Amino acid sequence: MATERLYFDDAYLRSFVARVTQRGTYAGQPAVVLDHSAFYPEGGGQPGDRGTLNGVRVVDTQADDAGEVWHMLGEPLEADEVQGAVDWERRFDFMQQHHGQHLLSAAAESYFNARTVAVHLGEEACTVDLEIAGLSMEQITEIEARTNAMIWADVPVQARFVGPQELRTLALRKPPQAYERIRIVSAGDFDHSPCGGTHPRRTGEVGSVVLRRWERYKGGVRVEFVCGGRAVRDYRRKTELLMTLAAELKVGQAELPSAVERLRGAEETQRKRLAQAEERLLDYDARELIAAAEQVRNIPVVVRWLDGRSLDNVRLLARRIAELGGVALLGLREEKAQLVFTRAAGLPFDMGALLRVAASVVGGRGGGKPEAAQGGGPDVARLDEALTLALNELRKGEA
Ligand SMILES: [Zn+2]
Repeated sequence: MATERLYFDDAYLRSFVARVTQRGTYAGQPAVVLDHSAFYPEGGGQPGDRGTLNGVRVVDTQADDAGEVWHMLGEPLEADEVQGAVDWERRFDFMQQHHGQHLLSAAAESYFNARTVAVHLGEEACTVDLEIAGLSMEQITEIEARTNAMIWADVPVQARFVGPQELRTLALRKPPQAYERIRIVSAGDFDHSPCGGTHPRRTGEVGSVVLRRWERYKGGVRVEFVCGGRAVRDYRRKTELLMTLAAELKVGQAELPSAVERLRGAEETQRKRLAQAEERLLDYDARELIAAAEQVRNIPVVVRWLDGRSLDNVRLLARRIAELGGVALLGLREEKAQLVFTRAAGLPFDMGALLRVAASVVGGRGGGKPEAAQGGGPDVARLDEALTLALNELRKGEA
C-alpha cells in the first residue's frame, strides 16, 4: 500500500500525525515509511522535503518504485506513531520556485515556441532548459515580463486528478505519460500541466521572477531564474555588492560603468609608462655593465650572474647589450641556473656552441643561434663556474 500523499490535497499542510508502516534504511540512512505524509519526495526536478518526525531530523524524502515515501532520518526512530513537521520555510521557497517555473515555461512556450525539456530546482540555482536556438536580451526580458504578468494576475492555482475523457480536452503544455487518471495543475487559463508537485493557492504567491543568467546548452538555451523570497535575497546581495563597489570607487551606483572604464584607461596608461620606464632602466643597466665589462679582442664582454630579476628582464638586458655592440654572458639564479648569452651582429663568436658547453657545467642543456642562446641546469652552485668557463672559451681565440 503506497504512502498517501497529503500534499496532493493540501500543499499548505505543515504538521500531521501518521503511523509508521516500514522501518529500515534508505541509501544507507535510517528511514521510515508512513501510512500518509505531508513530506514531498524528490521528483520533477524538486528536492525532497526536510523537517522532523517526533523531533528527529528528516534529512531527505524519497519515493521508491512501489510509491512508498521514505523519510530519511538523522537517527533511528522507535515510535510507531509520529508527529510530522515539514520545514515550511524551505518548502514554501520551493513552491515559489516550482510554480514560477511552470509560468516561466508557459511564457517561453506561448510567446517564443520554446518548449521546456529539463528543469532543475536547486537549493541555490534553478534552471529551465528551453528548446530554442538562442535568446536575445529582448526575448529574455519579454519572457520575464510575461511571467511576472501571470504572477501578478493572481489567478487561482488548481491541482486535481482528471480522467482520460477530460484530459483529451485540455490544452496541455506537455503531454502526460499516459492518458489515465492524472494530476493536472492549472493556473487560471494560462497553463495546464501534468504535475505531482507542490503549488501555491494563487499565482500571486510566487511573488516575482527574475531571469538572471542564460547560456547555450546542448543545442538549446539554459535559463537560470529565481522567484519570490530568493529574488529578494538575490536583489539584496546585488545591492550590497553595488554599494561596496560604489563606495570603493567613490561614485554613485549609476556611474559605476564609466568609473570602471576610467580605471581601465588609467591602468593602460600606467602600464605603458611602466614599460617605457623599464626600457630606459634596461638601457641604463646595459650601458653601465658595458662600461665595467671585460674586453676580449677589444669587444666588451659582460659576464654577470643576476639575482632578483625575471628571466624576461634578463633576456631584454642581454639583447640590449648586444644592440650596444657587446657580448652578454648572463646568468640568473632561480630554482635552477639560467644562462642567457647574446652578441652583437657580425662578431666572430658562436653563442649556441658556447651555451652548450656552459650549460653542461650546471648539469643541464641549452642552445640557440650564433647571435643568441639560452639554457640552464639544476646545479645553481656552479653558475659562476659555468660563466667563467664561457669567458675562457671566448678568450681562447685571442692571440
Ligand atoms: Zn508542478
